[in-house]
Amino acid sequence: MADEKNNNTDNDDKYEKICYICRRPESKAGKMITLAGNMCVCPDCMQRTFDSMGQIDMSDMTKFTNMPFAFMDMGNVNQEIPKKQRVKKKEEKAEEAEPFDIKKIPAPHVIKAQLDDYVVGQEYAKKVMSVAVYNHYKRVAANMEPDGVEIEKSNMLMIGPTGSGKTYLVKTLAKLLDVPLAITDATSLTEAGYIGDDIESVVSKLLAAADNDIEKAQHGIIFIDEIDKLAKKRNANTRDVSGEAVQQGLLKLLEGSEVEVPVGSNSKNAMVPLVTVDTSNILFICGGAFPDLEDIIKQRINKEASIGFRADLKDKYDNDNTVLSKVAVEDLKNFGMIPEFIGRLPIIFTLDAMTEDMLVKVLEKPKNAIIKQYQKLLAMDEVDLKFDEGALREIAKRAMEKKTGARALRSIIEEFMLEIMYEIPKDSNIGRVTITEDYINKKGGPVIDMRGVISLEDKEV
Ligand code: ADP
Repeated sequence: MADEKNNNTDNDDKYEKICYICRRPESKAGKMITLAGNMCVCPDCMQRTFDSMGQIDMSDMTKFTNMPFAFMDMGNVNQEIPKKQRVKKKEEKAEEAEPFDIKKIPAPHVIKAQLDDYVVGQEYAKKVMSVAVYNHYKRVAANMEPDGVEIEKSNMLMIGPTGSGKTYLVKTLAKLLDVPLAITDATSLTEAGYIGDDIESVVSKLLAAADNDIEKAQHGIIFIDEIDKLAKKRNANTRDVSGEAVQQGLLKLLEGSEVEVPVGSNSKNAMVPLVTVDTSNILFICGGAFPDLEDIIKQRINKEASIGFRADLKDKYDNDNTVLSKVAVEDLKNFGMIPEFIGRLPIIFTLDAMTEDMLVKVLEKPKNAIIKQYQKLLAMDEVDLKFDEGALREIAKRAMEKKTGARALRSIIEEFMLEIMYEIPKDSNIGRVTITEDYINKKGGPVIDMRGVISLEDKEV
């Protein structure tokens, strides 16, 4: 606790003063009056306090600076402002430093190559995202020099089954671009006034990810997952407005506007400071699995095919697993997304469902592949961990059965690695463990090699 306080004071210069009564930062509420005990109060609250006591002229506020505030409700007021609610001061040199130098933005092929290190498959999605992100930050740079030509935002909509890497792609992208990222679940959002998170809370989260630095947050990425859950209900007789209202509420954020957001909280209330964030340069990426969308696409394609001479092609798409990639705006509207919403997500692309081969690669290829993580852990005990091809296939096969894409891999692998991680460090003579298909199928144990034997083998080689 004491440490935290020290930290707070260490960095006090970087953070704005916040009114202890209305919790607005100095940039919004005006010059703060510092009272005894380092408490700050804004002129409005100070005036209001005096108003409530009788008419006292506040024109010369300095007189009150050291007055004990005995008449205020100290129970409410005399508390340290939590760090997560503090707002970073605007950097004075911000205008000199160019936040987005066009030369510093990696070219699309460089972004794609970096994504390749982590994300297996999804070639098309990686390409589209690399170009879109590159254009987005170019737009940020270009719009700083107004010449009348405003480049439009490249907000994206990614459609792909669970566990195909939607969230993972966005996370990887934000990390390699070194921009703050906020991930929100669309289902947690509600219209203002309802129980749940306000729509603006997505921006609050980004602000928190940017360490409450407004400038940084304004160039960040917001990922809204499960966006398909906001669809209007199809074939429902009852009026369903909740999802639709959230879509409506998101419009102005997607397009770019100045929004007042609470700092360090998911909803606006009297006790949290509010700041203004401009969302024009924030990149919004929405993602969802859109179940049943394939049927809607097939229906449309079949309908088109049944008109005129192409009628004989009617069932052609029934067994086509690339149907999803033929998605059109019209299909998304039929799914229940409102046209204005889709209109603000100009870049729409799909991700492929994971195949067994892809899952095998996910296990061993990415830079931080699960297997590499276990290998690193065991390497610390000087044990070499190996998986034979059959074992990898078996794990991938089991994951396929769970139908949750690459997500299932970790739980499957953890299940049988527990024994290994527990038993192996017991015997310091063990030099190598090989996980076999039989071990995964519980038909046998892993192959264990002792240290001396390995070094002999190595010598023979
Ligand atoms: P979703 O598409 O449901 O958002 P996630 O991105 O959350 O799926 O994927 C879950 C996990 O599976 C990720 O954290 C990542 O480790 C792994 N994963 C998913 N897809 C891939 C992929 N294409 N390449 C590598 N790892 C992946």
